[in-house]
Amino acid sequence: MLPTRQGSFRLFRFLSIDVHVHWSWFVIAAYQFLQRQHLYHDPLWSVAEYMALFGIVLMHEFGHALACRQTGGFANQIVLWPFGGVAYVSPPERPGAQLWSIAAGPLVNVVLMPVFVALYWWALQNGVAEARPDLHRFLEALLWINGILLVFNLLPVYPLDGGQILRSLLWFACGRGRSLQIAAIVGLVGGAGLTAYALFAGSIWMALLTLFLLANCWQGLKRSRQLIEIDRLRV
Ligand SMILES: [Zn+2]
Repeated sequence: MLPTRQGSFRLFRFLSIDVHVHWSWFVIAAYQFLQRQHLYHDPLWSVAEYMALFGIVLMHEFGHALACRQTGGFANQIVLWPFGGVAYVSPPERPGAQLWSIAAGPLVNVVLMPVFVALYWWALQNGVAEARPDLHRFLEALLWINGILLVFNLLPVYPLDGGQILRSLLWFACGRGRSLQIAAIVGLVGGAGLTAYALFAGSIWMALLTLFLLANCWQGLKRSRQLIEIDRLRV
């Protein structure tokens, strides 16, 4: 149930990787602009905030794609769709290659963190909050955007990066089928918890996202049974 390029258009090509953007990103952009423009004196900073979100998600996806290529895999497309970005990566069928291709995405956010912390620290030290409050708020937003993306992506809910990292680590110990099965079950439990939280918090968007995660876990569980069967017949 991966998102397709349907409803998206090619924005540009970089390092032989096509970057597609789904039309819904513009709806999200308008929504975010309306939600956050009052936080700034100059609403253009709200646009800059959205562009920063776009840029950070894109760098994260390029992390996946370039790491995948490094392992000898295939990666030529990134799609930014309603629930974030997706790098279409096909690393070789080895746990180490899968692990590096997945871990490289959140690693980009880890590398960005000290940069944003340093910028915010600089702002605090130089009285930017009083002199240029919009810039101060923007730098604060960068920290939050990057931090939330990092933490959310590392949740061990398949197919989020955290869930896929868990699967790759388990693969070393118990094979590709069983590792996917365990990761999918952990994902179903975690996804159910997230759905409950989304309903409690009254967030329709998050509820839809969690349903997407649960559907992927279910697909993963079915796929794991096939893999276990194939590997059993091979022995
Ligand atoms: Zn990722």
